[in-house]
Amino acid sequence: MSESTTFPSFLDGRVVVKMGDITQEAVDAVVNAANGTLLGGGGVDGAIHRAGGPAILEECRNIRATRYPDGLPTGGAVLTTAGRMPARHVIHTVGPVYGSGGPDKAEMLAQCYRNSLSIAVEAGLATVAFPAISTGIYGYPMDEAAAVSSQAIQDALRSNPSVEEVRLVFFLPQDAEVFVRHQVFDAEDN
Ligand code: ADP
Repeated sequence: MSESTTFPSFLDGRVVVKMGDITQEAVDAVVNAANGTLLGGGGVDGAIHRAGGPAILEECRNIRATRYPDGLPTGGAVLTTAGRMPARHVIHTVGPVYGSGGPDKAEMLAQCYRNSLSIAVEAGLATVAFPAISTGIYGYPMDEAAAVSSQAIQDALRSNPSVEEVRLVFFLPQDAEVFVRHQVFDAEDN
């Protein structure tokens, strides 16, 4: 499979699947698969802080000091600058750890997507790029995450017409393929 492989879009083109590095997406907001400390980590989190520079960490520290002294809870989301990245903003959300999420882990993962899109709507943002939250270090299987995330995105888009495009950015082509096979977007809107 080559980089130029195209993947299907969903919900009348409002959801686009692509391969790539999320730090390079020129959208209103890229979503960060953060951890509760908001102070950086591995995977997408590390890549976003490296690409965006220190302005992101500075705003995260300020959010911790003022609004979330105990850390951002799982499923929560907050908005910062995107620093030097082509995107305008970062929406940081904390996914569930698959092994320790208990029976609520699907609901927590759905909340990440719904709350991130709510923040986008409140801030008047029309284009949002997501990585596959929780499917890296946090161990959520891509097939299960595909079903949960697609349902949550569909619910959010149906009630928020101001969001024009949700871009789902996958680092690995096989992850994009598994997502496409296991997503549950309604077919009549494709
Ligand atoms: P989590 O801790 O929520 O599991 P990770 O950052 O470890 O988050 O991984 C989430 C997903 O993002 C994984 O599928 C991983 O392959 C993918 N990923 C890692 N780096 C990037 C990147 N720069 N752009 C897009 N996706 C990425």
